[in-house]
Amino acid sequence: MIHDQARYTREDEAVHEPLLSEKTEESVDASDASPLPDDLTRDSLTLPAPSEPEVARHYTRLSQMNWAIDSGPYPLGSCTMKYNPKFTEDVAADPNAAVHPDRSERSVQGSLELQYRLQEFLGDIGGMDAVTLQPPAGAAGELTGILVAKAYHEHHGNDRSEVVIPASAHGTNFATAATAGYDVVELPSGEDGRVDVEALEAAVGDDTAALMLTNPNTVGLFERDITEIADIVHDAGGLLYYDGANLNALLGRGRPGDMGFDVMHYNVHKTFATPHGGGGPGAGPVGVVDELAEFLPTPRVRKTEGDGGYERFEPDNTIGKVHGFAGNWLVLIKAYAYIARLGDEGLADAAAKAVLNANYLAERIDLDVPYGPFHHEFAATAGDRDAADVAKRMLDFGVHPPTTKWPEMVPEAMLTEPTEIEGKSSLDDLAEAFNLAYADTDEALSTSPNRTAAGRIDQVAAARSPRLSWQALDEE
Ligand SMILES: *Cc1c(COP(=O)(O)O)cnc(C)c1O
Repeated sequence: MIHDQARYTREDEAVHEPLLSEKTEESVDASDASPLPDDLTRDSLTLPAPSEPEVARHYTRLSQMNWAIDSGPYPLGSCTMKYNPKFTEDVAADPNAAVHPDRSERSVQGSLELQYRLQEFLGDIGGMDAVTLQPPAGAAGELTGILVAKAYHEHHGNDRSEVVIPASAHGTNFATAATAGYDVVELPSGEDGRVDVEALEAAVGDDTAALMLTNPNTVGLFERDITEIADIVHDAGGLLYYDGANLNALLGRGRPGDMGFDVMHYNVHKTFATPHGGGGPGAGPVGVVDELAEFLPTPRVRKTEGDGGYERFEPDNTIGKVHGFAGNWLVLIKAYAYIARLGDEGLADAAAKAVLNANYLAERIDLDVPYGPFHHEFAATAGDRDAADVAKRMLDFGVHPPTTKWPEMVPEAMLTEPTEIEGKSSLDDLAEAFNLAYADTDEALSTSPNRTAAGRIDQVAAARSPRLSWQALDEE
């Protein structure tokens, strides 16, 4: 991709021959005995050998061609894009953090203590009794949580085959239930955008293993009937799963455990300011109520009796491992550092500002927002304009656009979540970008973006035939 992004051609190569280095040619003997198919092997490999300034410029240029939370507002609804404070990088870079996970318990007491404390922090924040740090992403946390729920049902001899999921839920919820071997029962939204309690009563029964829900839901609406919903599911013998993607709206103010949820995941890269994307690594810890703790992945960390130390242990009926060792350790350190720095007050303040910012922004934009009152995010509608076109035009005004065309209950949805990190002037810029794009000509919308490093891409080709590795020019 190097040549493409940088408009790098063979002619350039001739002109900008690296000054400080030579190209290296490595010959690999692809012997006939190779069990690999011919098209997967090669006889020689030419690797670029650029000088340090070339490398620095290359990566700096690439970083400037992309949009980042460090460059400006990134109000990507549902996926909470928060600024990651740089001090968390310093904490994770502490040489004492880089311990080999196979070292003896006695020699890694500090790491174990941090894992233990993070388990406790997350348990307190979610209102859960026990936490595993192992899953490497929100989606992996979902699968872990549903497998724990399944193990619970099997342990108690409950034969249940269905997981109920609202139509507005994130795609990973459906994928999780199916991957865990359940049939998915889709629940249509009520007229007010929330769970329709009557429809839920009709959908839940002896076959229900769990209801998966996020609260506030994916249009930012608080499920006001949550205790009644919990009763309906529990009375039918099912479990209530909390998708933690929207926890930013509740931090320090409401706890899924207190609402009746039995199992949840935490998206630390959304709520606790650890890095998103780039293929990871991420982390998606899972919390459960007491009844489910014995099924959590192994190992967990607890205090040793008597001596004030910490030890790993295997829950009695563990589902096994979902990741090596303790999960993505350095990401977890960052989440710990963030929570410890903010404290109870800081977290509650973050949630309040996130809600305030979303409501301020919704007031300032000319687009209609069909449902309310909402919390930390809202789904505006682009009406008779194409939401994706409006979004692409917004890029020309120096902001990242919101999530588009989802959830489907809002036509031409623009799911917007500014988070607590934006100040008033940046929210005003965002509102102006919305309004300018929304009012622009059809011509401008259909050809945008025009001011970004890359123009409109063929999204289908980008998804279907991605180029995921470096390729030498002559291999194309
Ligand atoms: C982001 C998200 C997920 C999946 O989490 P990942 O960490 O991206 O795997 C699940 N549900 C909702 C509502 C989300 O926004």
